[in-house]
Amino acid sequence: MFYVCLSHDVDHLYKTHQYFSHFVKYILQGKLTLAAYQIKSIFLKDNYWCLEQLVEEEEKLGVTSTFYFLNETLPFRLFYPPNWRFSIGRYNILDRRIQESIRYLDASGWGVGVHGSFNSYKNENLLLEEKKVLEQILGHSVNGIRQHFLNLNDQTWRLQKAAGFKYDASYGYTNDVGFKEKKYHAFYAKQIEDYPIVPLALMDFCLMAKPDPWKAAMEVIVEAETNKACLVINWHQRTFNEKEFPGYGDLYFKIIRECQDRKATFFNVDQYVEQIKENRI
Ligand SMILES: [Zn+2]
Repeated sequence: MFYVCLSHDVDHLYKTHQYFSHFVKYILQGKLTLAAYQIKSIFLKDNYWCLEQLVEEEEKLGVTSTFYFLNETLPFRLFYPPNWRFSIGRYNILDRRIQESIRYLDASGWGVGVHGSFNSYKNENLLLEEKKVLEQILGHSVNGIRQHFLNLNDQTWRLQKAAGFKYDASYGYTNDVGFKEKKYHAFYAKQIEDYPIVPLALMDFCLMAKPDPWKAAMEVIVEAETNKACLVINWHQRTFNEKEFPGYGDLYFKIIRECQDRKATFFNVDQYVEQIKENRI
């Protein structure tokens, strides 16, 4: 018996600077079809959105997931290009269509949490503000947070808890897959009681960078099964655009089916934390 927790970080909902930056990236990598698609996609709409199709596919498989929404406020600085990708291309979480989608996910049984903005891991005011905005959209409290880029320092969990969050989901590798420091289950930081940290073990971009992503995924799945672990998966919703991210969506659903065949119990991250807090698992 092992558990699987599904989640999605919503970094971008619309393509902006990526038309150019991805075009250059794919040209340099010699991936001409993908480079050509960048030009074509200028004329297409909503090519990062993917929310409805994802929910529909998960529903067919009888699973739900937690979506972490980003509310990036880092100001645009013309003469500081490293910041551009954070401040250009962000979405406005207060857009009507986005608010409606967030409420739809919540009402349909999916989890919704904060994807902490780039500097929020060290700033309690940002954490408070981002939590408040999402709560105003939802009309009820928000429990979970995962930091953008899995940013963490030794104060982050204390600040998150002080801001009223009930759990964090930011612990894990940023450039590899697997159970970091063999953390197979939610754990607690020293001197921060009643604040579970839910470790992340499989992330789309890290897995797809492996020479054989399916083989690497299977190793993690078998390790999860052997250790009766909770396998937390994060698949950015934009990667379900098959043209833009070939093979990503298929691999996600293949992993789910494999874990279902192995009789894993599925939760979204919020449900998993609820089970822990009620001592059910
Ligand atoms: Zn992110």
